[in-house]
Amino acid sequence: CADCLRELDDPADRRYRYPFINCTNCGPRFTIMRKLPYDRPETPMAQFEMCPACQAEYNDPADRRFHAQPDACFECGPEIGWIEADAQKGLSPEGISWAKNVDESDAIFQRAAQLIKKGGIVAVKGLGGYHLVCDAANETALAALRARKHRPGKAFAVMLSSVEEARTVCQVNDAEAAQLRSPARPIVLLRKRSDASFAKGLADELPELGVMLPTTPVQHLLLHEFGGMLVMTSGNIHDEPIVIDEETAFSQLAGVADAFLVNNREIVGRYDDSVVRIIDGGAAGDIVQFIRRARGYAPLPVAVPCLENSKAELLAVGPEQKSTLTYARSGKAFVSQHVGDLESAAVFDAWNETRARYADLLHFDPKHLVCDYHPEYLSTKWALSQGMPVTRVQHHHAHILSVMGENNLEGPVCGFAFDGTGYGLDGAIWGGEVLLSNLQAYERFVNFAYIPLPGGAAAIKDPARIAYGALWSFDLLEHEQAQRFVSEHVPHAEVFQQMIEKGLNTPETSSVGRIFDAASALLGICLQPRYEGEAAILLEAAAHRAKDEADGAALEDDRYRVEFIKNTATENSTAADTSVLLMDVAPVFAAMLDDMQEEVPASVIAARFHGAFVCAIVDVAELVRATYGIEVMALAGGVFMNRYLLERVLARLQERGFTVALNKELPPNDASISYGQAVLGLQAQHEE
Ligand code: ZN
Ligand code: ZN
Ligand code: FE
Repeated sequence: CADCLRELDDPADRRYRYPFINCTNCGPRFTIMRKLPYDRPETPMAQFEMCPACQAEYNDPADRRFHAQPDACFECGPEIGWIEADAQKGLSPEGISWAKNVDESDAIFQRAAQLIKKGGIVAVKGLGGYHLVCDAANETALAALRARKHRPGKAFAVMLSSVEEARTVCQVNDAEAAQLRSPARPIVLLRKRSDASFAKGLADELPELGVMLPTTPVQHLLLHEFGGMLVMTSGNIHDEPIVIDEETAFSQLAGVADAFLVNNREIVGRYDDSVVRIIDGGAAGDIVQFIRRARGYAPLPVAVPCLENSKAELLAVGPEQKSTLTYARSGKAFVSQHVGDLESAAVFDAWNETRARYADLLHFDPKHLVCDYHPEYLSTKWALSQGMPVTRVQHHHAHILSVMGENNLEGPVCGFAFDGTGYGLDGAIWGGEVLLSNLQAYERFVNFAYIPLPGGAAAIKDPARIAYGALWSFDLLEHEQAQRFVSEHVPHAEVFQQMIEKGLNTPETSSVGRIFDAASALLGICLQPRYEGEAAILLEAAAHRAKDEADGAALEDDRYRVEFIKNTATENSTAADTSVLLMDVAPVFAAMLDDMQEEVPASVIAARFHGAFVCAIVDVAELVRATYGIEVMALAGGVFMNRYLLERVLARLQERGFTVALNKELPPNDASISYGQAVLGLQAQHEE
């Protein structure tokens, strides 16, 4: 807080440059909490006996540090420590040099800053876990960090000392400044300034850069000593959970970091940094969109106002990717922080650790579980093996329910659930769904016509293959541009054709994420994604570029049209999971190929491709209003993290008088699934 920062800088203060300065207005909470009520003996602070000066503050109701549980100073509190990777000595707790006073502490920060300036990588223990830190302007350091961390492409977030500093490299409006300065100190995705230059390997080709201000005194002191822009990325390898203790840091990050800036205050709760951005909501003003909800927010409960009187108590176990879990009772949902993708055993361990910790802290003992329909999700398997009653929720319904719950909507609403993947009840992979939904049930009104996914999950890493499947099903393979594409980028076209025609390991999907992947590959924008979602992210970046290059001139980005066709499958079925109508993107791909033939720039085609989805959403909304009188449109799923798409959809729907509901405190991606599951679970039990 501002008071602590002033003291941190005041040579006369007894906490001058003390790396763990805090007061009741700031400092760690949930990351050091073992039990509730939050009391020093139940935190790692218990091992530090307060000195008389600290004790006096702690006992004085008039003091800013009255009952500040982590109150400490150089005399009595936690210390920072330093150890450099040394091939001979190796890394061990005994090798750490600890800072007993301000001079020793300063020397460590100087040494760390020096090492970073020379291109080194330092692992720095933060509030919820370790960060890996390097000079954001040093391309060699960035390349080394990427190689060692096995993170080839995904953008790095940076730390800058102030909003003013951030303004030198990014556009920062008032709402974004407020987020940067908020006590939760999230990473804020800011639009890069066109006149700023960035080191290669930081956030190449992307319109945004993740920026955060220092959260902890350690970060303040380090950044001040360094005096520039630091990369601050989670201390982990690839998709493993963020490292929280020295033992794991020394074993897992030994090959990554050149040195470790540790401390002896134990981290109890594992928390990544939160990520937010501000969306231009037009008439609705600035909208905060969560990308990752973790440190600073979870486990503050999210209300379920429409089910305030439900007496049920339950645990919703969430999905597989971007996993979170939710404990709920009496209209309150305790949504866990971002845990990660449950595919890895280490992440599943972290999920179990989080589950146990929440139950303990919040005194939950649920007798009812809620899970996804996907039989292979580890979370589903866990739920089904507990011998408790389980409610299952369709993935995309959970997306829509999460928006309904956060906005206190009982429905019916028209929900657009557009994402990468979710288990469909007809055996297909869903992901482009328009569901008419209330709190109990849904009807699948429209979805994107299925395209084949030769090789299933393997196709996700090979978007050219998805493009081939799309062109095949749209009957466009004869187009000159399609032939050129296939001969250049789909060497195994015959194999895929066989697989599709014989239905061998080729699921069908309505996923909008996959349609975006296909378009990105077809345009040559991304053929080999280096991280999940990259093909679609780069397609969006291209659309933004077209917009910037058009420089106010009309981009004509509403030239492509998704067509609506009758779903012939409904003739044989009246099931709620069979749509009446299908959205057909074949005309969009045909128009793209024609534009490619005319040598229209890929970025302009990317913008027009986005425009087709904007128009399609508006068309569906009009149809639903005309047919059912429903005026509330709920937008959910990871596709709506696409700013280009979302801002245009918001503007157009508002122009036409629709009410648009979005996730508020939760991300639109699968991080909100456990909360959506909880909404249905509470409703189901409420009825019993
Ligand atoms: Zn403070
Ligand atoms: Zn003290
Ligand atoms: Fe999803």
